[in-house]
Amino acid sequence: MTGLAGVTGRPVPPGSGWPGDPATPATPAATDAAGARALAAEAMAAGSLGELTARQSVCRACPRLVAWREEVAAVKRASARTQQYWGRPVPGWGDERARVLILGLAPAAHGGNRTGRIFTGDRSGDVLFASLHRCGLAAIPTSTAAGDGQRLTGARMVAAVRCAPPANKPSVTERDTCAPWLAAEFALVAPTVKVIVCLGGFAWQAAWPMLQSAGFALPRPRPKFGHGSEAALAAPGTGPAFTVPLGGKALDAPAGAGGPGGGQVLLLGCYHPSQQNTFTGRVTPAMLDEVFRRACRAAGIGGAA
Ligand code: SF4
Repeated sequence: MTGLAGVTGRPVPPGSGWPGDPATPATPAATDAAGARALAAEAMAAGSLGELTARQSVCRACPRLVAWREEVAAVKRASARTQQYWGRPVPGWGDERARVLILGLAPAAHGGNRTGRIFTGDRSGDVLFASLHRCGLAAIPTSTAAGDGQRLTGARMVAAVRCAPPANKPSVTERDTCAPWLAAEFALVAPTVKVIVCLGGFAWQAAWPMLQSAGFALPRPRPKFGHGSEAALAAPGTGPAFTVPLGGKALDAPAGAGGPGGGQVLLLGCYHPSQQNTFTGRVTPAMLDEVFRRACRAAGIGGAA
């Protein structure tokens, strides 16, 4: 969303018309870690991805990140002075019956924190969505703004941490506070997910507690992250009890969630398409294509599994 009409230095009010805003003024907002756990668990138990993402998008559980995301939204980048910034947590987005789950680190201060959609409006997203489009997972090769016509097919994007952190570095406490949102979202999409692509080592590490909460037995030692790293995990045998991590009480799996269908989930490592990584050639468009083509094959998208 661009332009001067209605532009403020404050975050977008829930339910005020921002494209794709899942929340309404009545959406409950967590104000601490216990609140995030409780609200995530409730939405998960209700089996409502829409309510879960709505609650994610108004969360205020991490004081440092709330202050940072709102300061960035108020000060803005010089080239975006005339734009309204989202300034709220960036919820999961994409296909509700995804076969490929793409797990990132956190929204960028002037990317997702500006546009309200993960990997949208920044250089990382330019490279990532171009690859996803080439591989048949994204409707168009660009992702510039909420409401731009972009659509994910067979894929869903989530972040380990939903608020833009200073210097792109969330603290351990912030990562753990946000983990219940991730675990609950995974629980709701797990019945269809076959492949999880982790963009960067932080996402790779965040995937383990997410998988554990869904009942997966984790390999020991844990496979190391690298570009092209793979780890196949057998799906939980029977009716896993999804748990909200970090002290949350165990809950029955949401309706229809019996763990990923088809027996296993493949974890795939991919270097993060950050500006630094793409400028230095550490990760190239061809390398991203290779990972996402592998993900599509393993997920049975566009051909044989
Ligand atoms: S990082 Fe996660 S838990 Fe912390 S305020 Fe943002 S959405 Fe809430």
